[in-house]
Amino acid sequence: MEGDTGFIIGIAFSVLIVVSLLAIAANVNGIRRLLQGLLFPGGEPPIVRACPHCRLQINARASVCPFCRRDSEPWRQVDGVWRRTAEGGTEEYFDDASRSWRDASSP
Ligand SMILES: [Zn+2]
Repeated sequence: MEGDTGFIIGIAFSVLIVVSLLAIAANVNGIRRLLQGLLFPGGEPPIVRACPHCRLQINARASVCPFCRRDSEPWRQVDGVWRRTAEGGTEEYFDDASRSWRDASSP
């Protein structure tokens, strides 16, 4: 009788653990949104770029580096696509498919 009770409790806990893991797995996006809300109350985490002068990570939209206080061209988001003016003045856009910057003036 004692062994049966332990067995039943063991099965019950196993089922509880499996159900909990399934609930967590089904709600991964909700948990990620919750954590993101706690870490970044303003919304999305900021996109960062390297400052061309001191190489530290700064907000992509910043035109003045908060570390070395020097000016640099900020990235701009146009219709959901990131654009920047590269050294030499050529306009570039970020191609999500290849994860690289492409010359915006050539097709
Ligand atoms: Zn800097």
